[in-house]
Amino acid sequence: MRKKLVAGNWKMHLTLDEARELVARITENFPQPPLSDVWVAPSCPFIHPIARQTEKSFISVGAQNAHWEDSGAFTGEVSVPMLLSAGARWVILGHSERRQYFGETNEILARKVRKAVQHQMAVVYCVGENETARQTGEHFKIVEGQIREVLEGLKPEDWKRISIAYEPVWAIGTGKTATPEQAQEMHAFIRSLVEKIADSFVANNMRILYGGSVKPHNAFEIFSRPDVDGGLIGGASLKADAFSEIIRAADKTMQ
Ligand code: PGA
Repeated sequence: MRKKLVAGNWKMHLTLDEARELVARITENFPQPPLSDVWVAPSCPFIHPIARQTEKSFISVGAQNAHWEDSGAFTGEVSVPMLLSAGARWVILGHSERRQYFGETNEILARKVRKAVQHQMAVVYCVGENETARQTGEHFKIVEGQIREVLEGLKPEDWKRISIAYEPVWAIGTGKTATPEQAQEMHAFIRSLVEKIADSFVANNMRILYGGSVKPHNAFEIFSRPDVDGGLIGGASLKADAFSEIIRAADKTMQ
């Protein structure tokens, strides 16, 4: 059985004090470590202090983005070796907000993913269709392109570091969650696609997360589906109690 993963994407929220308080309260909520893996992605300047603070806890710290080069004249950017040296162990790549507002294409993301795995960094690679694509029935085609154009050609040892987050754009921050059936249908499609482009070992072991308005009240139902291996959580990851309840929901599916 794949271990569930609950990852918090804090986006551009929280000051340092607020971030410190949030992780302190999440860890207090779990005197015994959860069964699920728990990851959080603070904004870049807080990766180091939050990684230090959570060093001895069950929480693993990651980044929300990374550059495709190790270093260079790229004002304002942050590289994978920098993130690793600050304590980040994983990175979100291809989030729809990066695609939409910062022009990240599949081509750019293919370079970023390769750089991350080259440095043994775990990747949560995000895919998902927008509302129009869902209405016109093109959602499978869109997601297939996002996966093939970015992940095809990875080496077997690189695939081990990849998780895919299916995040329908119409469900992010909108309160409109995909139904558990819609999530399962797309996750099963993604797993069979990965089997085709990598192999069945990779496909069976890869964690596929659902993201888009996951809240305490719907987490258990979504995470109970056979191909849903946890969630990438935005809004609800900013509240210690809500995030903790989502972690408990993931744990419950493994008991
Ligand atoms: P949300 O965000 O949970 O606030 O919908 C999810 C995400 O963007 O990763």
